[in-house]
Amino acid sequence: MQELTIIRPDDFHTHLRQGDLMKDLVRETSKSFGRVLVMPNTIPPVVTPDDVRAYKKELQDVGTDLDFLMTFKIMPNLDPSSMTALKEAGAVAGKFYPVGVTTHSEDGVANIESSYEVFEAMQEQDLILCLHGEVPGVEDLEREHAFLPQLKKIHENFPRLRIILEHTSTKAAVEMVQSLGDKVAATITVHHLLLTTSDVRNGEFHPHNFCAPICKSESDRKALVETVLSGNPKFFLGTDSAPHLKENKEGDHPKPGVYTTPVALPLLAQLFEENGKLDHLENFTSVFGANFYELEKNSDTMSLKKEEWSVPSDYFGVVPLKALEKLTWSVIKN
Ligand SMILES: [Zn+2]
Repeated sequence: MQELTIIRPDDFHTHLRQGDLMKDLVRETSKSFGRVLVMPNTIPPVVTPDDVRAYKKELQDVGTDLDFLMTFKIMPNLDPSSMTALKEAGAVAGKFYPVGVTTHSEDGVANIESSYEVFEAMQEQDLILCLHGEVPGVEDLEREHAFLPQLKKIHENFPRLRIILEHTSTKAAVEMVQSLGDKVAATITVHHLLLTTSDVRNGEFHPHNFCAPICKSESDRKALVETVLSGNPKFFLGTDSAPHLKENKEGDHPKPGVYTTPVALPLLAQLFEENGKLDHLENFTSVFGANFYELEKNSDTMSLKKEEWSVPSDYFGVVPLKALEKLTWSVIKN
């Protein structure tokens, strides 16, 4: 049987939630990943140094060997002078959400330039800026495109600040990130590499494929695939795995987010193999992101085998991407 062993992957964008669900998510994540960048959009959000320390302790107390890279949420009234203490508390990045673009972003920032003093302080402290790059109020297929001039402007104003355009979903965004210097990178999710708008709505609405930013056109999807296969080090894996309980996805107000953690590596192996680039998988999952974050690569490995399996209908009440479908690669459990 064919096996594939790679440096243990990092997920530079994941949502681990709170309470009992958090514990299940942490255990499941540790089966595939060595390190994760933990998003701060909990309730209440992770904002202060104490919040960062407390959330990290809760995650560590689950008792896995997963490493947690912590973030804080850039609130409208965040004090720029708190950056030193946030860094000391263990934060490596701050996450910027425009108001109202995704789950728990009602308290996001309305005017991005009002955060420029915070960005300045982050640049001084060498904290990374992670951007949810969408403009609220614009039609959903155009929101990311509308944000790209803002990305360019932030980079021009803060040329030493490391910036990541999270969950890049369009060809235009890929081209913008490529055109900016080496301080600007992008994460790409598994679902944006595989799905298009018609997997979300084609007369019928498919809530479990619904996320923000919404998956775009086939030409956008192809541009993302070509980019990750090309081995450009500015683009690396951040799954934006964003679990919601089944009832919160299937109700009248479906929450955005696709749960991909347990299927991420099998689906990526399949995608890279189908395109004859299996040897580029490790750079995308385990090398380029670590380099951008200026971290050592993980010292251990993870393995996959070519063995068909069926994705469960749910994990702890959360429906995953490709539920009940057959995948060709599976994760070998340690
Ligand atoms: Zn996210």
